[in-house]
Amino acid sequence: MTDRYASFVQSAAGRALVKRLGLPDPPRLRRHRPGDPLLAGPALVGAATGGRLAEPITKILAAAGVELADPAAAADWAGGAPAQPARSHGDTQQRYGALLFDATGITDSAELRQLYDFFHPQARAVLPSGRVIVLGTPPQECPTPREATAQRALEGLVRSIGKEFGRGTTAQLVYVTRTGSDAATGPALPADTATSLESTVRFLLSGRSAYVSGQVIRVGGGAASAPADWDRPLDGQVVLVTGAARGIGAALAKVLARDGAQVVALDIPAAGDALAAVANDIGGTAVQLDLTAPDAPTRLAEHLASRHGRVDVVVHNAGITRDKTLGRMDADRWDQVIDVNLSSQERINDVLLERELIPAGGRVISVSSIAGIAGNRGQTNYATSKAGVIGLVDSLAPALRERGISVNAVAPGFIETRLTARIPLVVREAGRRMNSLAQGGLPVDVAETIGWLAWPASGAVSGNVVRVCGQSLLGA
Ligand code: NAD
Repeated sequence: MTDRYASFVQSAAGRALVKRLGLPDPPRLRRHRPGDPLLAGPALVGAATGGRLAEPITKILAAAGVELADPAAAADWAGGAPAQPARSHGDTQQRYGALLFDATGITDSAELRQLYDFFHPQARAVLPSGRVIVLGTPPQECPTPREATAQRALEGLVRSIGKEFGRGTTAQLVYVTRTGSDAATGPALPADTATSLESTVRFLLSGRSAYVSGQVIRVGGGAASAPADWDRPLDGQVVLVTGAARGIGAALAKVLARDGAQVVALDIPAAGDALAAVANDIGGTAVQLDLTAPDAPTRLAEHLASRHGRVDVVVHNAGITRDKTLGRMDADRWDQVIDVNLSSQERINDVLLERELIPAGGRVISVSSIAGIAGNRGQTNYATSKAGVIGLVDSLAPALRERGISVNAVAPGFIETRLTARIPLVVREAGRRMNSLAQGGLPVDVAETIGWLAWPASGAVSGNVVRVCGQSLLGA
C-alpha cells in the first residue's frame, strides 16, 4: 500500500504547502542496501567520566569502517578520559551521521549534566536519518539507588531526542549488562564485550533500523559469534517463517534469504500459490500447513527433521485479526485469534524444543504488536493474544538461556500492509502520522529488525520486545 501524502510532501508543491500550513512532514528514511556504509557521515563519540564501554565501542566502530568525527577525542576516550564534544569549525558546524554516548560512568543524578554537555551543542548537527545511541547499565544491576536512578533517567533523554531531532533521526538506549544480576538478560558479558555488542550497534547505526526509534534494548551475556561477512550474517542458518505468503512474512523471507539463510516458508494451503511464488523467488522451500490443525506441530517437526535435521531460527509471524468490540464479539472470533496468534506458537515451540530441533545458538522470535502494549478498541482478542506473546518472551527467555537459545519479540506499529489498508481512512491516517517519523513503516522494516535478532552475532540479545513503530505515541 502506498502513502500518497508522504509522496506528495516530497514534491515542490507539497513542500510549500507543508511549510505554510504546518502539516506533518514525513522524511524519506534511509533504508539498508547491501554494500552501503553503515552511516551517512562520521560518528561523534563521547563518554561520561568513568564509563566502561570505550574500548568495545571504538573497536566495533573501527571494524565497521565508521569514520570518527574526532579521532583525537575518541583516542582520549579509549584511554580512559571523557571525550569532549567536537567543536564547530568557524561558522560551519560539522555534521554527523551518528552521536554515541557511553553513559555507564554516570552514578548520580548530578552527573546527568554530562549528557547535556555532550548533546546540547550537537542538537542541530545530525544528518538526515542520523542515529543517536546512548549506552547505559541496567538499573537493576546498579550497586546504589543513586546510580540506578541516574541510569533509569537515560530513558527520558533518549525518548525525547527521538521526538526532537527530526528528519528521520532515531534514538535508542542500549543497556549493557555488567554483573549478571539482571534476570532478563542473564549472565555477565564475557570478556569480549565488543563481540556481544557489535550486532546491536551495527543494526542501530544502519538503515536496517530505519523505523525503530525510542527503544530500550538490553544486551546480556549470551554467546555471540561474528559472521565472516556482515552482509551475509545468516549464512548457513535454517530459518522457519510462518505466514510467509504475503505482507510482513513475505518481506521477511526475502530479507532473511538475502542475508544468507535457507528459508522454510510456511502458510495455509489456501495461500499455496502466493507461498510458492515467495519460496521460488528466494530459493527457499514452501510448507503448506494450517498452524491451528491438531497435528500441525508434529507435521512441521517431522518436515524440519527430515529435510534439514534442525531449525536454527523460528519466526512466529502468522497472525490474524477478527475485530469487534467485546460486547459484540462472538466466541469464534475470540478463539480463532488467540489460537493463531498465541496458542499455536506455544504448541510449536513445545514440540520443536522437546525434539531438540532448535540447537544451541538457536532463536525464537515472535511477532507481537503495539496493540498488545497499548490495547485497542475493537481488538480485545488481538491485544490479548499479542500481550500474551510478550509474556511468552518474558517466561521462555530465562528458561531457554541454559540451552543457548534466545527468545525475543518485535512489536510492529503501523505497517503498510493489507491488514492496515482495511482500516477506515481517518483512523488509518491518524495511525500513520502519530509517531516521531510521521509515517507508517514498511514490511521490510519489521523484517530487518527480526533479521538482526536472528543473527548468530545477536546471541547476547534475549528477552527483549523491540517496537518497530517509528516511536508511536500509542502505549509509549
Ligand atoms: P497478513 O494478513 O498480510 O499476513 C499474515 C499471514 O499469516 C497470511 O499469509 C496468512 O495466510 C497467514 N496465516 C494466518 N493464519 C494462519 C494459519 N492458521 N496457519 C498458517 N498461516 C496463517 O498480515 P501482516 O500485516 O503481514 O502481519 C504479519 C504479523 O505482523 C501478524 O502477526 C500481525 O499481527 C503482525 N502485525 C502487523 C501489523 C501491521 O501493521 N501490518 C502491526 C502489528 C503487528
